Amino acid sequence: MSGFDFEEERIKQEILKLGARQVLLQLPEGLKFEALCLAKIIEEAGALPIISADPCYGPCDLATAEAEQLGVDLVVHFGHAKLVKHEPLPTIYVEARSTIPVADVVEKSLPLLSKYKRIGLATTVQHVQALTHAREILVRAGKTVIIGDAGRMSYAGQVSGCDYSNVKSIADEVDVFLFIGGGQFHALGISISTSKPTLIADPYEKRVYNIDKEAQKILKQRWACIEEAKHAKIFGVLVGLKSGQKRFDEALKIKETVQQKGKQAFLFAVKEISPEVLMEFPQVDVYVNTACPRVSLDAPSKFLKPVLTINEFMVVSGEISWAHLLKKGLFEN
Ligand code: SF4
Repeated sequence: MSGFDFEEERIKQEILKLGARQVLLQLPEGLKFEALCLAKIIEEAGALPIISADPCYGPCDLATAEAEQLGVDLVVHFGHAKLVKHEPLPTIYVEARSTIPVADVVEKSLPLLSKYKRIGLATTVQHVQALTHAREILVRAGKTVIIGDAGRMSYAGQVSGCDYSNVKSIADEVDVFLFIGGGQFHALGISISTSKPTLIADPYEKRVYNIDKEAQKILKQRWACIEEAKHAKIFGVLVGLKSGQKRFDEALKIKETVQQKGKQAFLFAVKEISPEVLMEFPQVDVYVNTACPRVSLDAPSKFLKPVLTINEFMVVSGEISWAHLLKKGLFEN
């Protein structure tokens, strides 16, 4: 196994310490290719490994119900830092820190950062250990570097798919954000949440690029969804069934608000929100998603009907303005 630290020794020690006989492994999509190697390690430690084949997009999606159904003694959740406060059964988090060096790609970012003085650094849990080195390189190049405190997250500089409190807290002090990590998902979140120029320094693809055009495109799509929703008569309110995504009280409040405006609202319980699932209810004009908010943002063109976040619904109901929404954040609590 290469590219990530899977802390094999710690896993073995935890299995021995707990005397675990059956272990459920849960991995996000980008790490599933390592599942068989990790299962072998668990088997070597004397436990029966069971690999969760279901999708897993975040630490909010802990497979506790599945673990209870299977009667396992331990869940090993890979690729995320702990989010839920209390797990109903023993759970260990293996953050899968990247072992890929970031120095080259940070050096590569310098020409694109030439017009900026104050740089905000951010990353995912996979690269938090690389921020110190990245900061050194930037400071040597004459930049002022600011990294947000951990706040609600586990580490300074860390962002997650739906929590950008860290970068928002320093947005007024920086000219640009440099996100270190792979893919556009988190950097788009930074750009949308802070309205600051945002660059991605991707150590996997070894390239640095700006993400602001894509973020602007998403904002335009969101504005169009909100405008369409203002004319809706029937609302579907989605209640997430994943352990860290249940917001039933919020869903009830939304249903009530819709009904107070003389319109209809229905609650839908759902585990995976997909276009196919929502297509089964053609009478619904617009959905309000109280589960993972990034589903709404990252695939608007896939859904036939608008799928709003809770904050976006507040614009439709008249509780806040579009300008206030941009300040508050499209998808953060
Ligand atoms: S709610 Fe969605 S974006 Fe937030 S941590 Fe869970 S999967 Fe990621």
